[in-house]
Amino acid sequence: MYSVINFKYRINQFEYNKREIKGLQTAEKEDEKVTKDEMWKAVSENDKSYDGLFFYAVKSTGIYCRPSCKSKLPKRDNVSFFKTAVEACEAGFRPCKRCRSDLMDYQPMKEIAQKTKKLLDEMFHERSELNEELRKVGVTQHRMVEIFKEQYGMTLNEYVNGLRLKEAKRLLTETDDEVIDIAYSVGFGSLSAFYRFFKRETNQTPSKFRKEVRKIISI
Ligand SMILES: [Zn+2]
Repeated sequence: MYSVINFKYRINQFEYNKREIKGLQTAEKEDEKVTKDEMWKAVSENDKSYDGLFFYAVKSTGIYCRPSCKSKLPKRDNVSFFKTAVEACEAGFRPCKRCRSDLMDYQPMKEIAQKTKKLLDEMFHERSELNEELRKVGVTQHRMVEIFKEQYGMTLNEYVNGLRLKEAKRLLTETDDEVIDIAYSVGFGSLSAFYRFFKRETNQTPSKFRKEVRKIISI
């Protein structure tokens, strides 16, 4: 009986070595910025913003955890990384009872992305207050951009620019506000910056856009 278990264990070790490499390659392919060093740093700092992006397993205990797990930091040599909990499980590791690394519906990254998007939607026109609120989300700007991009397929700036353009077009169409007031109300610090932005996005100046759109409406 013992030898059967032992044999199984060895197979698991072999499979685990194979899968670790496979798992890591997938992780790096999809998000090239997350290196092994970065993952180790996240584990050392219990960085919650990496939860869901990868799991780490500890050879000496046979347990796998989320990066944020508060359990004692293992020796670096004993740690291997997996992209998913399933991969860690298949390699013979058991989920951790403390961080419940087996609960798949726990998606802090999605929550961070949604929270960020909500802030941008509500405060895109107030740059300095927006930045202050974004800092309170609790992840670095670099991580925030990565998480947002993974969830919505664009950077924070691209998303904010879309919101600004939409609102600027609405104000140009529906109100008689001066262009300079519109520029400030959608979050630009100067009229020239707004002109450059608007022209780049639409190939028209704001006043030309207003004229054209009103011509169409009055027909
Ligand atoms: Zn854990």
